[in-house]
Amino acid sequence: ILRATGSRARLSMRLTRALATQAPSTTKLLINGEWIESQTDTWYDVHNPATQELVTRVPQATPEELQEATRAASLAFKSWRKSSVLKRQRIMLDLQKAIRDNMDTIAKSITTEQGKTFGDAKGDVLRGLQVVESACAITDQLKGEQMEVATDMDTYTVREPLGVTAGITPFNFPAMIPLWMFPLSIACGNTMVLKPSERDPGATAILADLAIQCGIPKGVLNIVHGGKPTVDFLCDDPSIRAISFVGSDRVGKYIHDRGTQNGKRVQANLGAKNHGVVLPDANKEATLNQLVGAAFGAAGQRCMALSTAIFVGESKQWLPELVEKARQLKVSGGFEADADLGPLITPQAKERVESIIASSTEEGAEILLDGRNISMPAPYDKGNFIGPTIIAGVNPQMRCYREEIFGPVLVCITVDTLDEALALINRNEYGNGTAIFTTSGAAARKFQTEVDVGQVGVNVPIPVPLPMFSFTGSRGSIRGDINFYGRSGIQFYTQLKTVTALWRHEDVPEKSYVNMPVM
Ligand code: NAD
Repeated sequence: ILRATGSRARLSMRLTRALATQAPSTTKLLINGEWIESQTDTWYDVHNPATQELVTRVPQATPEELQEATRAASLAFKSWRKSSVLKRQRIMLDLQKAIRDNMDTIAKSITTEQGKTFGDAKGDVLRGLQVVESACAITDQLKGEQMEVATDMDTYTVREPLGVTAGITPFNFPAMIPLWMFPLSIACGNTMVLKPSERDPGATAILADLAIQCGIPKGVLNIVHGGKPTVDFLCDDPSIRAISFVGSDRVGKYIHDRGTQNGKRVQANLGAKNHGVVLPDANKEATLNQLVGAAFGAAGQRCMALSTAIFVGESKQWLPELVEKARQLKVSGGFEADADLGPLITPQAKERVESIIASSTEEGAEILLDGRNISMPAPYDKGNFIGPTIIAGVNPQMRCYREEIFGPVLVCITVDTLDEALALINRNEYGNGTAIFTTSGAAARKFQTEVDVGQVGVNVPIPVPLPMFSFTGSRGSIRGDINFYGRSGIQFYTQLKTVTALWRHEDVPEKSYVNMPVM
């Protein structure tokens, strides 16, 4: 393993070799600072979604390996919790530099395993890197409060780490979402057992390797792999104090219920159905460009994708121009320089999206642009591609409106007033993100106040907050009540201890007082 020299951390030889040869390899577990081969007999194959080439095989970690990981994390916590906050800050400072220096390597892994375009993959890394940058201010973020509450008596709060924490991440942001979790948890003095998506674990492996090169001691960060058995273990293991989860509704609710029943703190970000409201006074060109980018970027596989457009009044006249703009997007392998959107994650995901598109016409909607049966040249002819698809004449009862599609599909609804648009959004079960496009400050102000959604964009299509704020999905898009990153992130990964101390030279009490002290 190459050592970090100053801030120029390099990947370990083993990972570098695996990345360089691109030969199908097995994905390793990281336990107690060592990359180890699982002894399992159950493997998940990861295929490049643009070509179906086998990229790597991901183990379903054995129960013994999972226990080893939590044991290492418990042991490491004993000393890590006593490490100085300056040491943890130093590691974060080095890690942010290391991630920046290795940005292309991480993005390359994302495009290979997940499919998104190389440019978009770098955005995936960058939005996670910003959380690491915010963790560099941990020296300010952990400060408590103090007050002299009576003569010679002080009360003060100490923000302490929880212990072993767990992270469980989805496939769609293989760098950003692990980076929402482990840097903050570790900077707060916890240790972590992280389980990336079994569909694209490569970026997490690179990030963890960099973290080790930057000085994270053995056992502080452990990477385990697998599906439900691994998740069940993390929900049940008594040494784990808190779980951070991002992913689908069904799994998030399950993990939240199982984890909290076992007495753990759980934060869970779930699915979404995000509406973009287009008022007729909006800047047409800017609005249509933003809608197209936010609906079809990353092939719609973003929890903040604008997947439903609500055209208010005369703005419905813009539909033909929207279709023309979407038609211009280039569907291709993510490494092609002119690619705007890549494939879906798996053949099953492609099939599901196609069946939702098919259901829309059966239910009476009209397909204005159909991305099914897109013809792709070799080597992409077997990839999971669907082109941009626009469905109009949609109503809230249709399957294409009710379900999160998670594909390059924009469903369009027309209404007469902003009030109708607001009522529709507020009736939807999800509350992740929304956006309004308008030049009217008054309309934007009304929308921002009356919409019951956690993240609101005004002429901003994907309003994912930077980490000086927190990710604030609401209603059906979240379980648990402490948000990811920002001040809430620090709150999630710490608990408050309150100390009341009396230091007095005189007035030693001569008898015992049995009443409740009133100071
Ligand atoms: P997923 O729920 O299928 O997988 C997430 C994690 O759960 C993975 O690590 C997976 O291994 C594990 N898992 C899968 N099935 C399981 C089961 N039966 N029991 C226990 N664990 C299981 O989600 P995904 O398909 O990887 O990601 C897409 C979803 O994530 C979308 O719904 C999207 O909206 C959501 N998402 C939400 C946010 C947010 O912040 N709200 C961000 C990104 C993605």
